Amino acid sequence: MTKRIIPARANPPIFDDYDTETDESYDPDFENIIRQMLTRIGEQPDREGLQRTPLRVAKAMDFLTSGYNMTVQDVVRNAVFEEKCEEMVIVKDIEFYSMCEHHILPFFGKAHVAYLPNNKVIGLSKVARIVDVFARRLQVQERLTNQIADAMMEILNPHGVAVIIKASHFCMMMRGVQKQNSSTVTSAMRGSFRENARSRGELMDLIKD
Ligand code: ZN
Repeated sequence: MTKRIIPARANPPIFDDYDTETDESYDPDFENIIRQMLTRIGEQPDREGLQRTPLRVAKAMDFLTSGYNMTVQDVVRNAVFEEKCEEMVIVKDIEFYSMCEHHILPFFGKAHVAYLPNNKVIGLSKVARIVDVFARRLQVQERLTNQIADAMMEILNPHGVAVIIKASHFCMMMRGVQKQNSSTVTSAMRGSFRENARSRGELMDLIKD
């Protein structure tokens, strides 16, 4: 069996935080809530360094939760191709950043997405974009893992899909148990990856560092 292992590309940054317009308004209601939050934690929202913070936070939050406005169909479009191919395809080390829904704190790490094509393949960069559709929402790692696997099943109808995510959670690192070096691994197996120990074994061999 031949295998293709392709490292994923990082995402380009979208917003420039240090734009200079001073009277810009983005989302006044949202900015007001952030101003109130600053006051609540003991800050002075009008001091120089914080004047544009509500604006920046509002923009950043919209970007970090932009997955709510995206569908898998939107990002995949017509990048699914008929191809006589049934060999395992793995997109390794897809960097992602998400936020836990319990604390609205970041969790981040790497996702490995593998599938066994059923004569249909997907443009490789699209796999990383599917990860972002679900990562850029409030999440729990387990659900994120399952949503990526289910989306791949739906789009490609493959023989199997495996998603493995290893992530670090700020809510464990900065607060709570304050364990900086722990990481959480979740997996979702569908089709032959679930049913067939050999497929799983091959996958594990291919993704280990
Ligand atoms: Zn949390």
